[in-house]
Amino acid sequence: MDYGIGISAINPCRPVSGRMKAARIMEPIEPIVTRFPPSPTGNLHVGGARTALFNWLYARRHGGKFILRMEDTDRERSKQEYVDAILDALTWLGIDWDEGPHFQSRRGPIYAEYIQRLLDTGNAYYCTCPPEVLERKRKAALEKGQNPVYDGTCREKSLAPREGAVVRLKSPKTGATVFEDRVKGPISTPNSQLDDLIIARSDGSPTYHLAVVVDDITMGVTHIIRGDDHVSNTPRQIAIYKALGVEPPVYAHVPMVLGPDKKRLSKRHGAASVTEYREMGYLPEAIVNFLARLGWSHGDQEFFTVDELEEKFSLENIGKSAGVFDPARLLDLNADHMRAADTSRLAGLLIPHLEKRGVTVEDRARLKDAVETLKPRAKTLEDMAESALFYFTPIARYEEKGDKKFLKAEFLPALELLSAELEDVDVANQEAVEAAFGAVMEQTGLGFGKIAQPVRVAITGKTASPGMFETMRVLGNENVKSRLKNAIAYIKAKEQG
Ligand code: GLU
Repeated sequence: MDYGIGISAINPCRPVSGRMKAARIMEPIEPIVTRFPPSPTGNLHVGGARTALFNWLYARRHGGKFILRMEDTDRERSKQEYVDAILDALTWLGIDWDEGPHFQSRRGPIYAEYIQRLLDTGNAYYCTCPPEVLERKRKAALEKGQNPVYDGTCREKSLAPREGAVVRLKSPKTGATVFEDRVKGPISTPNSQLDDLIIARSDGSPTYHLAVVVDDITMGVTHIIRGDDHVSNTPRQIAIYKALGVEPPVYAHVPMVLGPDKKRLSKRHGAASVTEYREMGYLPEAIVNFLARLGWSHGDQEFFTVDELEEKFSLENIGKSAGVFDPARLLDLNADHMRAADTSRLAGLLIPHLEKRGVTVEDRARLKDAVETLKPRAKTLEDMAESALFYFTPIARYEEKGDKKFLKAEFLPALELLSAELEDVDVANQEAVEAAFGAVMEQTGLGFGKIAQPVRVAITGKTASPGMFETMRVLGNENVKSRLKNAIAYIKAKEQG
């Protein structure tokens, strides 16, 4: 991806007409850099995908850069298969990255350099307090109802490095750490609550907070949009920025996604990973639209294309209350995106769902025609594949309800007449098919609806299908004519039997 040229040219501080002043304040002037830093200890789930999307949209909206970083310092739980799954899910959603993926596990020397810098400037110190002593003090503090922060035993000792020592940050003890959260407003934490947190373990490896801050500094991250489960980490991370003499980035903490029962979204509420929705036949643009609306809004608009989201996304419109995951709304939104999608593309996407059902499509043009007829009603690609089966496989069984109601002696004359009328007719010729129906209506005295229902069951096996004429056209001469004859024989056999 060509990010190098013309960042400033494509990142004008776009003033919004009529809101020039407000726009100046709200729109960033510098090239903005966002990031998505998942831990590859599991698949990409809905909450993580939303975080990725918000950061990506914000970068795209402002002509900035979006970085992908794997926070894989937990060697036990981090797995290559999850790295692959996350990359696959992001790619499927169309969330592309300009830089990375970086891997924290490969950045040890950079962290070591920053830890040393903090030690050299007197902003960090070695601590040799034995873990069991710390644990005893922690418990005692809790019993007394006190905040169990490190008591500073080694803070002023200026200890030299030694086996088993950890490195702690010399946090400020007075005053408060204040930051302006772009979603929640100003957040202030008394520094007395900030621990002298450990930044390097006894084996020299960095702790989570140190690694995150060093990464964000060295990668030039300007905006951090993340779940508000991280909000309590922010003052600690700001303390590291300050100790390093670096201005902290802009923070926007987004409320967590809740399930329909208003509990934090989890596997219990449905698909555990974003790519499960691909298997379930959802379109990536519908998922993106849905994720964007989980906590962000633009008036009362529900349907957004990805381009529209890129154009309209802003931090100001992220709500203060949690987005609720409503599967029924996702399904409806998917149906809307199915209707809006290009038919050829849908046909291509449908193939694996048909193959799963044992159907190999040889005639792409016919598949496209079939999709065109099914598009108005299909909610997902799975749903569409199920509805499309009658076009591509012989009818194995008539739907019970249709069989009982319409495949009976009463309709035999109409079916026989239509079969005869259609003998020399090309079913792709709608006028000729209409004329055939007209002749049957005249001879039987039945209305179109009365005749169409048994015909529908005869040629599709079901009581519901796309319109009669388009269904016949897509089925083709051979199918329509043989299926009518089969149904006639079936009724006769049933009557005799
Ligand atoms: N790796 C963290 C997570 O997966 C993200 C930390 C951050 O955004 O700063 O929750």
